[in-house]
Amino acid sequence: QTVFIPNEVSVGEPRVAASPDTVKRIKALGLDVIVEAGAGRASRIADADYVKMGATLGTAADVGRADIVLRVRRPSESELTAYKSGAAVIATMDPYGNEASVAAMARAGVAAFAMEFMPRITRAQVMDILSSQANLAGYQAVIDAAAAYDRALPMMMTAAGTVPAAKVFVMGAGVAGLQAIATARRMGAVVTATDVRAAAGEQVASLGAKFIMTDALKDASGSGGYARELTEDEKKAQSALVAEHIAKQDLVITTALIPGRPAPMLVSAEMVASMRPGSVIVDLAVERGGNVEGAVAGEVVTTANDVKILGHLNVPGRIAASASLLYARNLQAFLETLVDKSTGTLTINPEDELVKATMLTYGGAIVHPSFAAVIA
Ligand code: NAD
Repeated sequence: QTVFIPNEVSVGEPRVAASPDTVKRIKALGLDVIVEAGAGRASRIADADYVKMGATLGTAADVGRADIVLRVRRPSESELTAYKSGAAVIATMDPYGNEASVAAMARAGVAAFAMEFMPRITRAQVMDILSSQANLAGYQAVIDAAAAYDRALPMMMTAAGTVPAAKVFVMGAGVAGLQAIATARRMGAVVTATDVRAAAGEQVASLGAKFIMTDALKDASGSGGYARELTEDEKKAQSALVAEHIAKQDLVITTALIPGRPAPMLVSAEMVASMRPGSVIVDLAVERGGNVEGAVAGEVVTTANDVKILGHLNVPGRIAASASLLYARNLQAFLETLVDKSTGTLTINPEDELVKATMLTYGGAIVHPSFAAVIA
């Protein structure tokens, strides 16, 4: 059977769903691999590097020969017309709000797997695209903030005088936030962070940053290690704390998300107005509605008081060469669970908990419980 890797650069996605390493591993499962020419270029992977590991080069039309398609983004409706019915498509599906695209995949008869629904259990850690990509996004957010900032991050004592260390405030200390803290610390900044889960406090402290939280907010852990939405009183207490703290910060990185909800609004326009000219805010939640009032998806906004708000889209794509290597490995590890090693063929077990959690469509129908009823 054949695995196909499309070139997604033309649709604005610099990442690619296979690396030379994963091609080698997929070949070892007994599958053939066709890589669309140029697919890895924006991630600094040459066609020849795939070929060296046993892949053949092809064109977009070769998707019609594939039993398995590995992608970064879900296929468009027009792309689906070329897919073989019964093929498996593994990608970041972003299905919420895109139910029509889920229905289109069902009609095309493909088995569509949403990698972002992978359960966060030990067995699936190697398949966790949210963690692999959020980790790099947290790093890149600090790099972007530092580049947009007109001052130095570390304290520098020189013959000509002392440059003070920058103050960095990270809001939301999950995977992205913790990497942002570590990166800012490595660059010599003085770092504080906040989160609504009490457990995050210890992790923040272990990275050498100070944890900031109000007494009014004991712990807002929800299910599965995620945060729950705050009550109105809790929101007020958090807002008062942030308002006081943020005015003294130079760089602010926001990463706060709540599963299945729009991102919580944490930084008001008034708070932004209280910051010093030249300060920089990076809103990593901008694609999910944003944590910062005035942040615009895909844009850098400069406010009246000269604070820059960075709303970059696809932040992992800004560090594509690293992001692709990890993403590719996440997908290949999952694919391995879907292949019968004795025959080298796709064998989907609907009872497997990883399949149950991630499979959106199968056999012409929408099978995922979160979507089946919506479009029935
Ligand atoms: P996420 O992307 O859903 O959210 C980012 C952070 O924002 C979270 O820490 C959340 O608590 C915080 N947040 C939400 N509302 C907030 C608010 N109003 N103010 C401030 N912060 C707010 O989270 P994530 O990065 O995916 O991580 C969530 C948890 O899952 C963490 O505990 C992490 O360690 C854990 N995790 C476990 C595994 C695993 O076991 N395999 C893998 C990855 C992450």
